[in-house]
Amino acid sequence: MGLVIDIPAIVANWKALAAKAAGARAAAVVKADAYGLGADRVAPALYAAGARDFFVALAAEGRAIRPLLPEDARIFVLSGHMEGADLAGLIPLLNSPEQFFRDRTLRPRGPFGIQLDSGMNRLGIEPGEWAAIRTEALAAGPALVMSHLACADEPGHAANAQQLAAFRAMTQGVAAPRSLAATGGILLGADYHFDLVRPGIGLYGGQPFAEARPVVTLALPVIQTRELRPGESVGYGYAWTAARPSRVATVAAGYADGLARALARDGKLALWAEGRACPVIGRISMDLITVDVTDLPDVPPTLEILNAQQGVDDLAALSGTIGYEILTSLGRRYERRWL
Ligand SMILES: *Cc1c(COP(=O)(O)O)cnc(C)c1O
Repeated sequence: MGLVIDIPAIVANWKALAAKAAGARAAAVVKADAYGLGADRVAPALYAAGARDFFVALAAEGRAIRPLLPEDARIFVLSGHMEGADLAGLIPLLNSPEQFFRDRTLRPRGPFGIQLDSGMNRLGIEPGEWAAIRTEALAAGPALVMSHLACADEPGHAANAQQLAAFRAMTQGVAAPRSLAATGGILLGADYHFDLVRPGIGLYGGQPFAEARPVVTLALPVIQTRELRPGESVGYGYAWTAARPSRVATVAAGYADGLARALARDGKLALWAEGRACPVIGRISMDLITVDVTDLPDVPPTLEILNAQQGVDDLAALSGTIGYEILTSLGRRYERRWL
């Protein structure tokens, strides 16, 4: 029951992605609480499997996992050195000349990395800025020089080769380890791997790593069932009306648990009972979802919304988003269990 997170599957996905980038170190991206799945469980499990490099978005996320990892684990902070940040035990990826000079002034002997902008225009030092500070920055001994791809989930996109060329040009002659690829970049091939790869979503079973082992199952408890006569309606707006004598189950989860109302917009969302799909009917409420279970011989105590048949990317397609958003939206009210 509840949200079951398959840690051995995450480890297997990490190993599979590491094997695809055999010439590089494989890090693990555990930002946003390991994409909603529990960084305090995921990071130590991946350390035990051999990962030594971890990436988080914010210093506070890094501080939360620092005590859980041995000293030789490196925790990189993608937002870099923001004003007032406590970076003890962490490695900021400095994103601008301003961050670089702040960091070198405040923690002159602290380890740091550099994030370059190779075209995405989101985070990172621009080529012109880099030319101005490159000599000084490299002399200070960065632990990593990295950039990020904007379109790696589209192998045919021209931006991939352009960003690769820009990253190569900016890092020519750099002795420090280099990193460009996240999950999508790993799949683009060895040209993109450099010294370290940074998979995130692929660890957690999401696209574009199509070979990923599924990681989450989510079973929702049935609160009650009722029998409807033809012509009776269900839920807000009376959005669904029974065309035949029907049995309806009401389960305990809704949009407050990250199951967006838009999941039900096309009437294609199903909950699952031992491999059988049961259509979700009516509107998704804050805490409740209603399901047509008429064709089930028996109503089980729980119905699954995430399982081997219906994964995070299937849900994402129904509500017009991506697997990343489904995972990071999973609510705090589920009973969580880690295998
Ligand atoms: C989120 C992120 C990653 C991981 O990306 P995935 O697509 O989840 O593999 C890697 N690097 C940076 C800079 C990121 O922001």
